[in-house]
Amino acid sequence: MMMHEPLVFGGLRGTLLRDAPLARHTTWRVGGRADVLYAPADRDDLAQFVRGLPASTPITALGLGSNVLVRDGGIRGAVVLLHNPGAALAVADGLVYADAGVASPKLARFAAMHGCAGAEFLAGIPGTVGGALAMNAGCYGGEAWRHVARVETLSRDGTFAVRTPADYAIGYRSVTRRDGSALAEVFTAAWFRFPTGDIATARGEIKALLARRIATQPLSLPNAGSVFRNPPGDYAARLIESCGLKGFAIGGARVSELHANFIVNPARRASAADIERLIAHVRSVVQATRGVDLLPEVRVLGEPQ
Ligand SMILES: Cc1cc2nc3c(=O)[nH]c(=O)nc-3n(C[C@H](O)[C@H](O)[C@H](O)COP(=O)(O)OP(=O)(O)OC[C@H]3O[C@@H](n4cnc5c(N)ncnc54)[C@H](O)[C@@H]3O)c2cc1C
Repeated sequence: MMMHEPLVFGGLRGTLLRDAPLARHTTWRVGGRADVLYAPADRDDLAQFVRGLPASTPITALGLGSNVLVRDGGIRGAVVLLHNPGAALAVADGLVYADAGVASPKLARFAAMHGCAGAEFLAGIPGTVGGALAMNAGCYGGEAWRHVARVETLSRDGTFAVRTPADYAIGYRSVTRRDGSALAEVFTAAWFRFPTGDIATARGEIKALLARRIATQPLSLPNAGSVFRNPPGDYAARLIESCGLKGFAIGGARVSELHANFIVNPARRASAADIERLIAHVRSVVQATRGVDLLPEVRVLGEPQ
């Protein structure tokens, strides 16, 4: 059944769509449909939605879709869309509070304006706070979890918990539960502790960082940031470029000429399968030519067509 009109029912205050296209919710602009897509009004509404789903229905959290490749067959079960322009940001007890649905660049600017140092790097990461927590997003020496005092999570049975960094094993673009299990919970909020800084310095840093990104990344074309993690002591972009892969294309997907670790979808006609095949091709060429197995940073979600 196709339904494009938003439905609001059952006491829920968010927006629920069935058989909803996901391409518009990913920065690559590719991906099939979600059986159910729910954009909650707030954290309590999200909890109510989760509690109302059959226990067997899988839930996938999506922030701004800037680090995911959603396959052409879409995602079974429910996708909860957490980016929310109205999400809360506050300063209390020396900590910066952010709902998971706040865009990371907004958190960076908010922290800077409140005299905090260390959040500037988030200005160039076009995802949500929840996505930054799930990925331990970072750049230019900054990493999301370095500043986390505590997080709030929502479990599959719809209960909230407050957790600290000690509950997690945190690595380079990787966060798992300390006991080794995968993250089964959704991040709903975080409290950050940033050192005191200077407003003008922080704003200047954000400006410089954004200028650097505009010069070095293909930001005008649909992309998902760095496709591969950097291997220890080297750069994925350098390795890919050294194999002559800049500009190499499969279907509508192309290795960026500006930054070899980016794959772009210039005419918006790539399928997720084109991108996935290009990722596999780049990986095998680098493995065969340089002897390095590049590990993807982007998360592949859903079913092939
Ligand atoms: C131009 C560009 C530049 C980028 N630069 C950087 C960079 O410098 N450094 C960097 O680290 N990344 C970078 N990225 C990648 C991406 O922006 C980050 O990983 C970002 O933190 C992802 O946030 P998101 O909200 O878009 O997450 P999504 O892409 O929506 O989701 C990513 C993963 O996190 C999970 N997830 C999302 N929200 C939650 C939640 N609330 N609770 C639990 N799980 C959740 C999803 O299920 C998925 O597995 C870049 C991307 C682009 C497009």
